[in-house]
Amino acid sequence: MANKRDYYEILGVNKNVTDDELKKAYRKLAKKYHPDANPDNKEEAEEKFKEVSEAYEVLSDPQKRRMYDQFGHDGPQGFGGGTGGPGGYYSYTSSGFDGFGDFGDLGDIFSSFFGGGAGFGGRAGNRQRAANGPRKGRDLQYNLDITFEESYLGVKKEITINRNEECKTCHGTKAKPGTHAVTCKACGGKGTVTQTVSTILGQMQTTKTCSVCHGEGTIVEEKCPDCKGKGTVSRNVKIEVNIPAGIAHGQTVVLKGEGEAGSKGGVNGDLYIVVSVRNHKIFKRQGENVICNIPITFTQATLGATLEIPMVDGQKESYKIPEATQPGTKFVIKNKGFKMVNNNWRGDFIFTVSVEIPKRLTAEQRELLTKLAKTMNEQPPVRKKGIFG
Ligand SMILES: [Zn+2]
Ligand SMILES: [Zn+2]
Repeated sequence: MANKRDYYEILGVNKNVTDDELKKAYRKLAKKYHPDANPDNKEEAEEKFKEVSEAYEVLSDPQKRRMYDQFGHDGPQGFGGGTGGPGGYYSYTSSGFDGFGDFGDLGDIFSSFFGGGAGFGGRAGNRQRAANGPRKGRDLQYNLDITFEESYLGVKKEITINRNEECKTCHGTKAKPGTHAVTCKACGGKGTVTQTVSTILGQMQTTKTCSVCHGEGTIVEEKCPDCKGKGTVSRNVKIEVNIPAGIAHGQTVVLKGEGEAGSKGGVNGDLYIVVSVRNHKIFKRQGENVICNIPITFTQATLGATLEIPMVDGQKESYKIPEATQPGTKFVIKNKGFKMVNNNWRGDFIFTVSVEIPKRLTAEQRELLTKLAKTMNEQPPVRKKGIFG
């Protein structure tokens, strides 16, 4: 399925080909590649014959041809290799996301979803210096681009981030193995010093970070050689991220504890995966609904028709539109929209039909339409009120 040739190219015709020309081209090629006419290289001919027949099958059907023109091979029906597709992702919606490992249960993770790039105000607190106590590691942010289909189905992604991890040599103590950090004499291990100063308003007390130990409360006399006394080392790490089905543009997945290493026994920071969903050629998202425009012919609109509507997951849905369907009419296919991240509720697939007027007619078609116009007492048709007055 991967590198399918263009149907027009297979038949050696251009995109504006008429039905008659199409038929001619197909007949010529079908004759040429018919296995019976190629006894010497039957297999190759058979392949070609199949290819030509498939192309004709699609292009000779107005509905299929329009779909092909709009979506091509790699449109929604071709997504994920057509029939196969990344179906496995569905199972994650019910059985949970294993990639989060030890970082809390499902509810925990989902409660940390928030939308609209809501900012990270809450995280500033993490960086507040608790003078001397355990300190949480820095939070990290990673911007992840996914496709529209991936946001619909959910996807597993491996990302590489650079982060400071606890130094394995000194285990974050910053001291050379076999040595220990000593308590800072200037502050007595508190990390802060309180001074009493005289001002014109009287005596005032000020508390400042200890300038000797820089607030650490301890002094490392012999630094760990591997981390140069930092307690952490910078590393590139691969992390698997499960993006749940239904995630919207700008939403964030939080991986607790996947940020930078904490210090003094503090917990690791968190990793914020900010998801960007790429635009799709034909589908749009509106809330949990999928919105799409489906072009139909005026005869389909007038007489009614069964349409094959491409779904985001690559499947197709048959949908019967009634006789006398007006342009702009919206139709709803229930429960084919986006899944909500937190539960199993789904939005709908809503399509609006647009009516296409044929750009050229065969003589026969023109004759039929003229007859039709006469039955509607129009001669010539359609110069009623409109923009021509
Ligand atoms: Zn170290
Ligand atoms: Zn100190």
